[in-house]
Amino acid sequence: MHIVMVSSECAPIAKAGGLGDFVQGLSRELAIRGNSVEIILPKYDCLRYDRIWGMHTVYRDLWVPFYDIAIRCNVEYGEADGLKCFFIDPHSQHGFFNRGTIYGDADDNDRFAFFSRAVMEFLLKSGKRPDLIHCNDWQTGLIPVLLFEVYTGLGMGHSRVCYSLHNVGHQGWTGPHILHMNRLDVGRLMTPERMLSPSNPHEVNLMKGGIVFSNFVTTVSPRYAWEIQHTDQGMGLQGVLQTHDRKFGGVLNGIDYSTWNPEIDPLIPANYTVDSLPTKALNKVALRQRVGLTDVFKPLVAVVSRLDKQKGVELIRHAIYYSLAQGCQFVLLGSAPDPAVNAEFWRIKHEMEGSPDCHLELGYNEELAHLIYAGSDIIVIPSVYEPCGLTQMIAMKYGCVPVARRVGGLADTVFDANYSERPFEQRNGYVFDDLTYDGLESALSRAIGLWYRFPEYFRQLRSNGMRQDNSWNHPGQHYIDIYNHIRA
Ligand code: ADP
Repeated sequence: MHIVMVSSECAPIAKAGGLGDFVQGLSRELAIRGNSVEIILPKYDCLRYDRIWGMHTVYRDLWVPFYDIAIRCNVEYGEADGLKCFFIDPHSQHGFFNRGTIYGDADDNDRFAFFSRAVMEFLLKSGKRPDLIHCNDWQTGLIPVLLFEVYTGLGMGHSRVCYSLHNVGHQGWTGPHILHMNRLDVGRLMTPERMLSPSNPHEVNLMKGGIVFSNFVTTVSPRYAWEIQHTDQGMGLQGVLQTHDRKFGGVLNGIDYSTWNPEIDPLIPANYTVDSLPTKALNKVALRQRVGLTDVFKPLVAVVSRLDKQKGVELIRHAIYYSLAQGCQFVLLGSAPDPAVNAEFWRIKHEMEGSPDCHLELGYNEELAHLIYAGSDIIVIPSVYEPCGLTQMIAMKYGCVPVARRVGGLADTVFDANYSERPFEQRNGYVFDDLTYDGLESALSRAIGLWYRFPEYFRQLRSNGMRQDNSWNHPGQHYIDIYNHIRA
């Protein structure tokens, strides 16, 4: 099958969060299974060019419609960790992808709508006729709309679209200008059953367009699929998802074990497996050295997260003080897009200056993330909502025990050591329900207590997590089944 994966992120070259991991992991799994997989991304100035091999121009002078003019683009090609990637490079004064960052500009809707249009134009002009176009999140929600409204009529009717929702907290709410920009019929598309925002009669909703016009819609865990159809976590899309229920389902993400595997990870000083768990302690020593903590007999509690409201920043903050008070060390790696949240964590960082037990690293650091998973004992994930969550799966693979709130994909992957109904060998962490200090403490205190009082039992929990299969094997097959279903 010829599959084109279109996304605003792909690890390790353009990653802001789990979407990047998804694109890398699923694409690799599909390729291993013998499919021809091509990834299309924007050519950001902030790509990790050191991880791209053989970059060269494969298509010149691609003229992409933009209002009543057209913008000239080149398309570059390179390989990233063996994956075939095409990069859309527009030449215009807008500098769409020359912002030093993937997201966060006032014209993000325009930037990614233009990207979507350029992708379709590239497929058309280069003669690519994929069996399957896999789109992701609001940034590429316009692609199924464009395919149906424009490109099917130009000979691309053979392609089917699978559309994955990674986070419905961001839907691409925008104005009708986005349709003018793409020369689409505003009257036809700005209707309740097509692209009109459920909550605002003057707004176009790019994610809703993706849902309505694609052949199948997935989201990244079964629990989140239920939550966004039936609770306010759908953020206004509940009705649309119920209407399109017959083409909607949750597929639990995998993680890429060629990237996230303590047995072969080149970014950690001491490799280990479930059978050589004591070696993990060497990584704890290295992590402490790296972040300036003393080498003492204490559990190391960690957070690796975007410091976004979604991630439960208030409880992350509380976890720092609570862990220290309970005789732990704490290390946090996080980046905060919100200036107020950023300022608060910088304040805590200054407060902890010189502490032998606490370190906050504010920013994005792929290499340090690997060392934290390998060197820590407990990871805290108190999300308000969590579509899938990769951190808990990565942490478990590295023998780090998750303390997580029971929402979305966390509920599908973390099973409480004391209260789960699953057999013991499937229990792998601690969970809590209430989004309160008490809720968090009810789980975190049990994890810390176990580390101190029952080390053998704690070791078994680590082993259970490491043995859990969260590879792309099952989800890979699930996606192939979906692709075959919509092609039939
Ligand atoms: P989300 O996609 O909502 O950010 P996920 O749990 O699905 O959350 O994925 C998070 C991914 O991003 C993981 O691979 C995690 O290791 C990584 N990550 C998060 N914050 C940072 C950071 N500050 N530095 C490095 N990696 C990070």
